[in-house]
Amino acid sequence: MKNDTRIVHAGRHPEDFKGAVNVPVYRTSTVIARNMDEWDRKHREQASTNEPDLFYGRHGTPTSKALQQAMAELEGGFRSFVYPSGVSACVTAIMAFAGQGEHVLAPDSVYGPVRRISGTMFKRFGIETEFYDPRIGEDIEALVRPTTRVIYVEAPGSLTFEMQDIPAIAAVAHRHGAVVVMDNTWATPLLFRAFDHGVDVSVHAATKYVTGHSDTMLGVVTANEACYERLKAATLDLGQTASPDDCYLALRGLRTMGVRLARQGQAATELAAWLASRPEVERVMSPALPDDPGHAIWKRDFLGASGLFAFALKPDLAKFRREFIDALKLFALGGSWGGYESLVMPIDPPRTVTRYAYSNAGIRLHVGLEDPDDLKDDLAQAFGLINTRT
Ligand SMILES: *Cc1c(COP(=O)(O)O)cnc(C)c1O
Repeated sequence: MKNDTRIVHAGRHPEDFKGAVNVPVYRTSTVIARNMDEWDRKHREQASTNEPDLFYGRHGTPTSKALQQAMAELEGGFRSFVYPSGVSACVTAIMAFAGQGEHVLAPDSVYGPVRRISGTMFKRFGIETEFYDPRIGEDIEALVRPTTRVIYVEAPGSLTFEMQDIPAIAAVAHRHGAVVVMDNTWATPLLFRAFDHGVDVSVHAATKYVTGHSDTMLGVVTANEACYERLKAATLDLGQTASPDDCYLALRGLRTMGVRLARQGQAATELAAWLASRPEVERVMSPALPDDPGHAIWKRDFLGASGLFAFALKPDLAKFRREFIDALKLFALGGSWGGYESLVMPIDPPRTVTRYAYSNAGIRLHVGLEDPDDLKDDLAQAFGLINTRT
């Protein structure tokens, strides 16, 4: 089946819910067993890979299980779990596989809160995180130690959109017994088949494109069969769970994610190319553009672009970044992304081992479902405004 078909049917079982098209919201903590035999059976099943739909609210409900099933199926993984946010998903995925005295490799372009916890709580717990150039490829082998348990990847990188050679990095990781954990939020399960490219554990901030309407916080982690037990144990031990209402919204969003992504990716690529031709722009950071350093890898491994990219103003215009952003009318100034609406945000990415060349000049755009011509006009009038300042 093609993805457009899968995304309509994955995780849906109308026959189990009196014919209802969508899996209903199951609100429960306690789940009552009819007798001791059922009690024993459910405990046995919960400990196996054949978990019951309802065991205890924290362990999931038919609503969360439907989302988990759909996400695992779409990405080609074994099983998924849900989390109250994308950050909790990222953190649990690392904690499941790394412990005291062990080593984690993370790209210098990693999502900010993952960088933060690496220097705070992970450090206190004795997990050492070493940052690497996201474009390192197979040369990552030189950084691998006997204690390396996790090679964390994220492509394209947060804020600056560097592509990573995931198959090359995964080959090194697997030679050394390390687990490849990927933040695949940008591409969603539709645009990058993480498990086909050597990823063992895939993380999604479902807050973004999956829910797609800027109204829900949610994370999903999917593991391959080999990593499933450890991920399940960490998820349950840490008490990670998500509300059935939020899982319902994610399922509803998921059904239209394909068409939203196709439209938003196309509009974003069109706008990125237009921005690259503007005299006010120093560089556009988007692997979908042919002259981007990550384009060849993106074209080889990815199935499309989503709606998020960044650009840098020319150095002499950087002092007008605030005015440029304030002048935009259709791009609202806000963090997060993946909704139906366009957003803008200044970027000042922290770096440990690489250099960011566009200090105070970087701007991230999330392209929504508005007409791309209107979005272009909005950007053009904001450029017009800062041009009158010079
Ligand atoms: C937003 C984001 C997260 C975190 O998701 P939240 O739901 O906001 O906690 C993780 N990774 C990436 C790449 C993100 O953009």
